[in-house]
Amino acid sequence: MSDLFYPPWVVLHIPHDSVDVPADVRNQFLLDDRQLAKELTRMTDHKTLALFAHLDQSVAIVRAPVSRLVVDVERFENDQYEPMSARGMGAVYSVTSSLKPLRRKLSAAERDSLMQAYYYPHHAKLEVAVSAAIKIYGRCLVIDCHSFPSVALPYELADADDSRPDICIGSDDFHTSPELANAFVAAFQADGWQVSLNEPFAGALVPSSRYRKDRRVGAVMVEVNRRLYLREYDGEPLSNFAAVAQRVRQCCMAASVSYRDASSQRIFSASTSAPPPSSFFHHPGRRPGFMKVSSSGHDMILNETTQTSASESYNSFKPAAPKPKDQNLTSQAACLLGLSSVRCSNIFISAKTHFDAQKW
Ligand SMILES: [Zn+2]
Repeated sequence: MSDLFYPPWVVLHIPHDSVDVPADVRNQFLLDDRQLAKELTRMTDHKTLALFAHLDQSVAIVRAPVSRLVVDVERFENDQYEPMSARGMGAVYSVTSSLKPLRRKLSAAERDSLMQAYYYPHHAKLEVAVSAAIKIYGRCLVIDCHSFPSVALPYELADADDSRPDICIGSDDFHTSPELANAFVAAFQADGWQVSLNEPFAGALVPSSRYRKDRRVGAVMVEVNRRLYLREYDGEPLSNFAAVAQRVRQCCMAASVSYRDASSQRIFSASTSAPPPSSFFHHPGRRPGFMKVSSSGHDMILNETTQTSASESYNSFKPAAPKPKDQNLTSQAACLLGLSSVRCSNIFISAKTHFDAQKW
């Protein structure tokens, strides 16, 4: 069976598949090379870029270029709002997956340097990609792409004996409509996977400027159990990797199309309406974070792998919808980033939602 295609308004967010630890930050870590390699094997969402994206197809991809051990772009920027920071695993980890010391104590300047180098530019790229899809197609679906170990790691504070599903779908009360969540659950179930919703991981990531404001932005998290495609002890793919990856992609693509058909009317008719207040309190651990935005270091690269510029990315979208009159995405992106540095103090909130026991 040949691959389908992602609808052109899909943005794949891939935060955890890099194993790169740049040489200039290596001395922050307290682990020797063997220990660091072992920690990278445990904590990396190995091969998720290849699992979710077919690189000969055009889809907008925002991928973190460095390991989550360097900076975790999935966390809130501000530890004050990041529940995992209480375990030493905010945006800049201080402990390992076993809750042992990971890195020496950093100065505020060192932490800020990491954030400037790897966190803010990543979220700027996500903002650009989502804004481009909205501008062109009037909607965007962010698929947050992860994988998880078959046995819970100590930092998760979960029971290691608990059986884990093949696929976990994460949702957000505002950005994940029931139709969207159901489409993803149903697509994977129809393909024979064991699927759970928001268990053992919960939430979905949305660019901060759109968080709980813009219903044109849909979001869903897809977590794949690593036992399905990986030799977990060394991070090497299993021989069936290509077949599993094709199935994962096709489920995501099919669900994305279904989402378009099921909810387009509602999206366009309720693009900026606020959620009922109760939705903010349904999960008491949820709340947005705020961060200071830097205008430095931002570029127009959306896809670290293909080095695609925003304008090129626009051109690579499938022509499934009419192009807008204003096609100057470079100007649009510059405007977006300029606005963010002048007017908004919270434009790059990392909007991963959090439940009481956030574990990913
Ligand atoms: Zn992950």
